[in-house]
Amino acid sequence: MEADRSHLAPPPSVGGSDPAVATEADWDIEAVRAQFPILSREVHGHPLVYLDSAASAQPPLRVLDRIDRYYREQHANVHRGAHQLSAEATEAYENARATIADHIGADSDEVVFTRGTTESINLVAASWGSRFVGADDIVALTKMEHHSNFVPWQLLAERTGARLRFVDVTPEGTLDLEDFDRALEDRPKIVAFMHVSNSLGTINPVSDLTERARAAGAITVVDGAQAAPHMPIDVQGLGPDFYAFSAHKMCGPTGIGALWGRRELLDDMPPYQGGGEMISEVTTAGSSWAAVPHKFEAGTPNIAGAIGFGEAVRFLSELGFDGLAAHEHDLAAYALARLDEVDGLTLYGPREDRTSVFSFTYGDIHPHDLSTILDQNGIAIRAGHHCNQPLMDRFGLSGTARASFYLYSTRAEVDALIEGLRMAARVFGGLS
Ligand SMILES: *Cc1c(COP(=O)(O)O)cnc(C)c1O
Repeated sequence: MEADRSHLAPPPSVGGSDPAVATEADWDIEAVRAQFPILSREVHGHPLVYLDSAASAQPPLRVLDRIDRYYREQHANVHRGAHQLSAEATEAYENARATIADHIGADSDEVVFTRGTTESINLVAASWGSRFVGADDIVALTKMEHHSNFVPWQLLAERTGARLRFVDVTPEGTLDLEDFDRALEDRPKIVAFMHVSNSLGTINPVSDLTERARAAGAITVVDGAQAAPHMPIDVQGLGPDFYAFSAHKMCGPTGIGALWGRRELLDDMPPYQGGGEMISEVTTAGSSWAAVPHKFEAGTPNIAGAIGFGEAVRFLSELGFDGLAAHEHDLAAYALARLDEVDGLTLYGPREDRTSVFSFTYGDIHPHDLSTILDQNGIAIRAGHHCNQPLMDRFGLSGTARASFYLYSTRAEVDALIEGLRMAARVFGGLS
């Protein structure tokens, strides 16, 4: 049966848009969407409207093809065999590292492959933390953090006796910069914060924050999971000591990510895990470590994942972050305007300097009920605390509904979301 596509018809054009801002017309949205096979599937008899890219973005055909080709034609273990396949696999794996390093303005040997942002931050907390953090030290983080930039520091504090200091968030959903400065007065050893909020879309002023933290003598650890998909990352300009991100939030595969760290810090850090690949020499008397980044990559790595990650970065760079940003800016402005029309809907987070992720509550409809109704209409959103419980507590919420847009999202999908919300209001009553 043909799915009802009427709600995906092109929306009427909205007036009053800023002519300096590119519109969808400049971004060949159909050509972009055609590269994502999953976007043409149906869910519960409706065309899929995928508004959960902040949890995981979809991979384009070219990433899928690259992973497929690796397994079909090049698969062998890396850095070991003196045979052709191993040499090809190693070259593809290291080329992916070079692509990612180049993309963020770093040297290849400063980029460690990890399972993702979570493992990258755990690596820093476990390795740098265990050598350089003691019972008298303070680790500063923010109430905005994803659990993956929160719990590793709690574990470190438990192990070492170090104290945690939580920087507050303003009612508008931005970082409280005065409280940030107050936290620095206590001379923390580490300051950890996110580049972009996965719940509120807030873009933090990273280079300003890293500069203030450095002046106070701290090292900085930045969670870039929600920034890397949306903007080019220049670690030199941003100025952190460590920067973590995940492939699957930026059109790559799951289970692979990167940790960038300053060379001199990585050199001084003990290994995170022990095993093959990460040693220089092993004897019964003791072992010595391989140079960075291999010191931190124990065991057979996720070779296919790394190669797919490199391909995703190439895909995004060739498509161009300027066009991507203009498209998302246009879409975010349109979504804000349409969400504003919905009576009883409360939006959290700033209206400016934000990405295209929207957290909201709608009357007293439970976010899970909302997402269930939307799902029945093929619309995928997220409901819950989004691994942001301290932030939800800050706003007195147990959770929100969250719709997130990406390079393949359309205004018609914003319209579908709004229509879905009205449908939910009819089911639960009491709202427009
Ligand atoms: C998704 C996300 C993470 C965790 O990434 P994983 O790939 O699950 O390790 C961390 N921080 C933010 C802001 C995220 O959005």
